[in-house]
Amino acid sequence: MYRPHPFSWVPADGQRHATTDPKPRQGYHGIVVRTLCSEALTVDNSDLGWLWPTCPSCNAGAHELAGAAHGADPAE
Ligand SMILES: [Zn+2]
Repeated sequence: MYRPHPFSWVPADGQRHATTDPKPRQGYHGIVVRTLCSEALTVDNSDLGWLWPTCPSCNAGAHELAGAAHGADPAE
């Protein structure tokens, strides 16, 4: 199965985090995942969860994992 990036975004604990844990057959909701910011958090895959802000540590880690095609950002 094609995965564009070796991680997934998961809402947990008031922020959207990224995790490299494999996605369970039933999805991430309600399970504990190890996030890129080194936390073990229970995923809250609700509609509201996806409106939470992105965890800055996970965002940085995700960009690293994705090979950081980030050069287009003038802020960097
Ligand atoms: Zn995080």
